[in-house]
Amino acid sequence: MRTPLVAGNWKMNKTVAEARELIMVLGGDLKSITEVEKVVCPPSMSLVAVANLLGGTGIGLGAQNMHWEEKGAFTGEISPGMVREFCQYVILGHSERRQYFGETDQSVNKKVLAAQAAGLVPIVCVGETLAQYEAGETAAVVHRQVLAGLQGVDAAFAPKLVVAYEPVWAIGTGKASSGENAESVHRDVIRPALAELFGAQTAEAIRILYGGSVTGVNAAEFFAQPNVDGALVGGASLKPEFIEIARAAAR
Ligand code: PEP
Repeated sequence: MRTPLVAGNWKMNKTVAEARELIMVLGGDLKSITEVEKVVCPPSMSLVAVANLLGGTGIGLGAQNMHWEEKGAFTGEISPGMVREFCQYVILGHSERRQYFGETDQSVNKKVLAAQAAGLVPIVCVGETLAQYEAGETAAVVHRQVLAGLQGVDAAFAPKLVVAYEPVWAIGTGKASSGENAESVHRDVIRPALAELFGAQTAEAIRILYGGSVTGVNAAEFFAQPNVDGALVGGASLKPEFIEIARAAAR
C-alpha cells in the first residue's frame, strides 16, 4: 500500500562539515532499512555536499523551502530548478515558515504547484496552533490548509504528494500528540480533504506523516496507526535516534 516515509528536517542546524559528519553517522544504518523511504533535509548551504555523499544509499534529499519563481530578483531565495538539481523532495509550508516568514496558504499553494512543475515531491505541512487547538478549531484549520495549499494540483501528480500533520504545539516542545489524536486528524480531516480534492481512491494513495516531538521512544505508537504513514522529524533527526525512528517505521 503506502510505503512509510521518514523525513528529517534539520532546520538551521549543522555547518557543511557537520552535515557531512552526520551523514557518515546515519548513512550506513539508514541504507540498510529498505522497507522505508528515508529523506534528509539539511540547510540549503549543505545540499550539494550531502547530495555527493548520498549516492547509492537510497536516502533521499530534500530542501526545507524554496521560492515558486524559477529565477529573478528574489534575494536570498532558491528556485525549484536549483533544488531539483540535487533534491527529490521539498518541505513546504512548515509552521516556522508560516510563523516567522509570513507564509500563507496562498504562497504555500504557489510553491506546491512549482514543485509539481519541477518534478519535486512536496512535503506539505499543516497543523493548528495551541490557541486553535484549545478553541477546538483543529479540524477547520487543517481542512482549510489542505484545500487551499493543494488547490490546482493535477490528479495524476496527487499520489506523489506528501502531507505532514504537525500540530504547532507539539513542534520542538517535547509534548507530542498522542497516536490516537494524530490518527483521528489524519483519518477524519486530512484524508477526507484529499478525497474532496482528488477523489477517494487517490486520497488513499497519498502519504500523511505525523510531525511534532517524534522520538525513538514514541515513534512506534504513531506508526501503529493505520493512517500515519511516517514521520517528519526535527530535533531527533540530528542524532542516531533518527535511525531508531526509521527502524520503527519498518516494523
Ligand atoms: C519539525 O520541525 O518539523 C518537527 C517536527 O520538529 P520536532 O521533531 O523537533 O518537534
